[in-house]
Amino acid sequence: MGSNLSIFKIGVGPSSSHTVGPMLAGNLFCELITPHLQDVKKIKIELYGSLSLTGKGHLTDLACIIGLSGIKAQELTPTSKESILHLALNDHKLNLAGTQEIPFFYEEDVVFYRDFLPLHENGMRLNAFDAEGKLICSQVYYSIGGGFIATEEELKNPSTTSGDSKLELDFTSAKDLLELCSKYHKSIAEISMEFEKQFHTQEEIEKYCLEIWDAMQESYRNGCEPNSEILPGPLKLKRRAPELYRKHKSTSSDPLAIVDSVSLYAIAVAEENGAGGKVVTAPTNGACAVVPAVMLYLQEQLKERFGPKMVVDFLLTAMAIGSLYKKNASISGAEAGCQAEMGSASSMAAGAMAMVMGATPAQVCSAAEIAMEHHLGLTCDPVAGLVQIPCIERNAFGAIKAISAARMAMSRESDPTVGLDEVILTMYQTGKDMDLKYKETSLGGLAKTFGSVC
Ligand code: SF4
Repeated sequence: MGSNLSIFKIGVGPSSSHTVGPMLAGNLFCELITPHLQDVKKIKIELYGSLSLTGKGHLTDLACIIGLSGIKAQELTPTSKESILHLALNDHKLNLAGTQEIPFFYEEDVVFYRDFLPLHENGMRLNAFDAEGKLICSQVYYSIGGGFIATEEELKNPSTTSGDSKLELDFTSAKDLLELCSKYHKSIAEISMEFEKQFHTQEEIEKYCLEIWDAMQESYRNGCEPNSEILPGPLKLKRRAPELYRKHKSTSSDPLAIVDSVSLYAIAVAEENGAGGKVVTAPTNGACAVVPAVMLYLQEQLKERFGPKMVVDFLLTAMAIGSLYKKNASISGAEAGCQAEMGSASSMAAGAMAMVMGATPAQVCSAAEIAMEHHLGLTCDPVAGLVQIPCIERNAFGAIKAISAARMAMSRESDPTVGLDEVILTMYQTGKDMDLKYKETSLGGLAKTFGSVC
């Protein structure tokens, strides 16, 4: 597990588990085959479970091709993406690891299986062959959510690969976090900073957080003024952020205009993700707009008070809460439904907002609990396998619920009945009980009914 900074990663849309993760798997496979690179003359990509069932809509196939070309998610530009895909799909060549071109035929070298690999809903196998068709190397990867990748070995023996057993300061539950806050008389943001300082310097942590905030604001700006007003894919959805942005700029006496502002912030970023643009996983791509929407709301409300220190505290708190979901449950829609993505994002944003507004550590955990409690049971049923309907609007509701949860937690005078640890466990159990139809397969829910009537 290690540092929690990577809960926030700059990447590309539309999906962290279906796009960012598989791209990383491609990068890792390039490293794995480095000693045999000159002998590799064919690559075969095998996608299983949710990576297969919604893989085309989520661009998993293309993400693998880009990853195998040696390009990292944060380095990808529209130009490099286009040239890699043109080479692979039109010229039938893969620039393996960015070093040598080998033959590549999409129809036979990318295989979509309907069955699932045993350890996670998002499985894939990458294979390298020599000129005689002999297998040189094969590796199974699981995309476990938020752009994180694990091999079979890592999933089977997490304790041997976590590397954090000797940490002086550590927490795996909200209870641990609250005890640390009480013991050291620190806020959750300060404890999160102390935790991160076991991996990085304070200067590096602050710089990383501010870069993340810059990237979030860039996604928002790009979403307000996109190059194309239509989102990619068969639904041909019109982007709504440009129109919302035009209305937002004109002064309004509507007392509810603030609700429209939060929707604008979330929709702009989520549409940018749906378009395959640059966004920050928070904790995933599908739910990438909740945290920035709440931060943009705070910036609008607090003006210059929402400065670098508050930004860093917000993100440190959000990542500490996000790590609890990652360690104890799931942040993957394919594993536990949308509650694991949108609910975790809303919970992170709620706790972080409460923290920077002066809440006690207990109130921060309460805000995070409330936000998740009201996402429990939320299914993942993306229409046409795209991260567009219901995902884009759902980010706006995640942000509004987060703001509401932070306010509720801070205004209550009685102790909360349900704790954050319990709601995290409940979310995970609910996700495990959920039928596969509702876990990023597009086989049920809105994906099915909408498909049957249109
Ligand atoms: S419904 Fe939720 S979990 Fe599923 S793809 Fe959309 S945002 Fe992700």
